[in-house]
Amino acid sequence: MVHEVASIPGDGIGPEVIDAVQPVFDDVSERFGFHLELVRYDWGSERYLESGSMMPDDGLDELAGYDAILLGAVGHPDVPDHVTLNNLLLPIRKGFDQAICKRPAILFDGVESPLEGYNGGDIDFVVYRENTEGEYADMGGQEHPGHGHEVAVQSAVFTRTGTERIVRAAFEAATEREGRVTSITKSNAQAHSMVFWDQIVEDVSAEYPDVTVERLLVDAASMDFIRRPEEFDIVVASNLFGDILTDIGAIITGSMGLAPSANINVSGEYPSMFEPVHGSAPDIVGDGVANPLATILSAAMLFDHLGETEAGDAVWSAVTDQLADSDAPRTPDLGGSAATAQVVADLRTRL
Ligand code: ATP
Ligand code: MG
Repeated sequence: MVHEVASIPGDGIGPEVIDAVQPVFDDVSERFGFHLELVRYDWGSERYLESGSMMPDDGLDELAGYDAILLGAVGHPDVPDHVTLNNLLLPIRKGFDQAICKRPAILFDGVESPLEGYNGGDIDFVVYRENTEGEYADMGGQEHPGHGHEVAVQSAVFTRTGTERIVRAAFEAATEREGRVTSITKSNAQAHSMVFWDQIVEDVSAEYPDVTVERLLVDAASMDFIRRPEEFDIVVASNLFGDILTDIGAIITGSMGLAPSANINVSGEYPSMFEPVHGSAPDIVGDGVANPLATILSAAMLFDHLGETEAGDAVWSAVTDQLADSDAPRTPDLGGSAATAQVVADLRTRL
């Protein structure tokens, strides 16, 4: 079986962590008997600074034929964040209808959480974030520029199709786990969009009588992610709320360097995209100490998505094993002093 994967290393530590996964790809594809062809695209902020765009005009056409996309990171100190987002990430997520963003938050054994009293094993939930509409619908405008009475409008768009899709995916996932869904809203202050969301959660939940539903306002949820993270199973949230909550999810589980994510095209018509939750980490670029595990775990999710679940499981357990071993090399974000390459080399022996 041949899988063709487009890799977009991107900016900052993106190329460092993508280069680090190549040998892991070679190992698992050999061991599990499939061929993985990684085709590299040097798109990102450097390209933007030279030519005014992060990817070519026909970039999406180029990517459309791949089985999946692996992305490193995008972001550059000289490029405004909204440019980065709107030139590469959002076009891919929206253009390929990657409506579901799946972000596991797992505290691995052997990893210390910054939350006092947590020393491994307890935190294990997955955030299902709506990924193509909501607050990131890119609708709005500015009026009366430069007259001291400017008005800026940023609209959020919630469709029944989009909302049902993410909510249903969350319930479906809960049936495979502990059967609990927590729906995040701000229904008390946003009486149109969020009340609509609540209604859809209620409709969909009727189809899943065995799944327990909890509703939380996003402010309370931010608190509870810190106060009682062990109680969550599947969390479902809109684009903006999911974005914010998943950073909390990443940091309470020890490091941004460990958090993977998947942007899933549900219909299978277009490629899905796998990427670490972290950004370009400009503060450590070029030091060779970026933690590659977020990207490697994203690759494990990619293998699962391609149907290579044995490879996905093998990578996942090699990482679990490495983190649980107090003698194994660790990058500085996890309190160690090892280089990216040492972590990868050690992981390969476990694979
Ligand atoms: P961007 O603008 O690209 O999102 P950022 O400034 O928001 O970048 P992040 O990349 O999200 O930064 O990183 C936040 C912090 O976490 C930084 O201090 C960074 O060094 C650290 N960090 C992120 N990813 C990793 C990693 N893979 N390994 C080690 N440290 C990391
Ligand atoms: Mg960031």
